[in-house]
Amino acid sequence: MVRNSVLVVEDEEDIRSLVSYTLRKEGYQVADVASGEEGLASAELRPPDLVLLDLMLPGVDGLAVCRRLRSKPQTAGTAIVMLTAKGEEADIVAGLNAGANDYITKPFSRNVLIARVRAALRNMNPDAGTAREPEASEGVLRIHNLVIHPGKHLVLVDDQPIELSATEFRVLRALARKPGWVFTRQQILEEVHGDLCAVTDRAVDVQIVGLRKKLGPAGRYVETVRGVGYRFKE
Ligand code: CA
Repeated sequence: MVRNSVLVVEDEEDIRSLVSYTLRKEGYQVADVASGEEGLASAELRPPDLVLLDLMLPGVDGLAVCRRLRSKPQTAGTAIVMLTAKGEEADIVAGLNAGANDYITKPFSRNVLIARVRAALRNMNPDAGTAREPEASEGVLRIHNLVIHPGKHLVLVDDQPIELSATEFRVLRALARKPGWVFTRQQILEEVHGDLCAVTDRAVDVQIVGLRKKLGPAGRYVETVRGVGYRFKE
């Protein structure tokens, strides 16, 4: 089994050592540093599979670190999970906009930490682990300027292929199969099966944000139905 590597960037020593200890016990290769500068240096030297990145860091803060990691080819595809203070919604949005895949609010439990790390790694590596293969017999969906090919796990927008994670693909397929139907977050979770079950409804919002961004102008077909969930535009 390949052991995934995780870089922990956190200035609070208690949290840093607890997170590192927990992940090492789970079998991850862990490097930990206390500042953004050290984090960038470490990631450049040995790009990790995942970075757990504290938002509030002295010096170069988490958002700046996140943007710089995304801008470098060797870490552009690295999973990034932000650590944020509880209830700082503006920070969470800023983190996701800066390219983070997910976030964990402090204080968090050991189980939440492990579940989010696993989910983020799985989404970055759709071929690894437990990803469920779609049945090859399932039909090709054509809607608006999109073509969704479940058997090939392929999405075309205006004939251009779009790179989606395994989970984003399943969310899109679920919505696009029934245009105009409103899906609750819980229904979307059920559609994508085990992938997100360890995390919360909010994980669906994270997937939708990523999906819309990658679809570009076609992202507008993924509509938010306030207070209910999401639907694919008819
Ligand atoms: Ca901090």
